[in-house]
Amino acid sequence: MLLAEVRQEIADACRTLQERGLVVGTAGNISVRVDDLVAISPSGVDYPGLTADDVGVHRLDGSPVEAPLKPSSEFPLHLAVYAERDVAAIVHTHGVPSSALSTVVDAVPTSHYYSALFGGQVRVAPYARFGSDALAANVLEALRDRTGALMAHHGAVTLGPSLAKALDLVAYLEYICDLQLRALATGLPVRTLSTEEIEGVVADLAGYGQQR
Ligand SMILES: [Zn+2]
Repeated sequence: MLLAEVRQEIADACRTLQERGLVVGTAGNISVRVDDLVAISPSGVDYPGLTADDVGVHRLDGSPVEAPLKPSSEFPLHLAVYAERDVAAIVHTHGVPSSALSTVVDAVPTSHYYSALFGGQVRVAPYARFGSDALAANVLEALRDRTGALMAHHGAVTLGPSLAKALDLVAYLEYICDLQLRALATGLPVRTLSTEEIEGVVADLAGYGQQR
């Protein structure tokens, strides 16, 4: 089977999203790019029974290579991102904190320094119908110089150099959205960090971690 390992990782990651409450039912989708091929979760298949065979492999123009099922309805969004960005994985979720916050702000306020994990303040892509080219364009624009974005009245998307990194970012994104919602719920003004401070953290994070 073509890209067998990657397809299994995607199937497993879909189940992880469901277990963590980041998707309801068959919502959400995951893709991984390997050279000129994209493996993406299928449309409308229950995650508990999802197998590597169900995860299709397509070319970057969307044409199928080894895909027994219809790809996720957000395939146009995934293809639009791969056409513009040098990333290896995309995760789209319907987490409650990000979806809720997407209905009240145009960008996630920088109330926590984790905004820097996404390259700066996380934007909210304007609403467009699911699966549409308009939604793909809106999200691509919101993702400019960022590794995550919210999708108004819908959910969120993260990008990474690997599936593991993109999945990690999902957790951080839901965390800062949850934090902001709780702060807003106090009714008190929510204080935020300056753009300069966030940019400083972005620079620091670039050199953070174990160096071997
Ligand atoms: Zn969706």
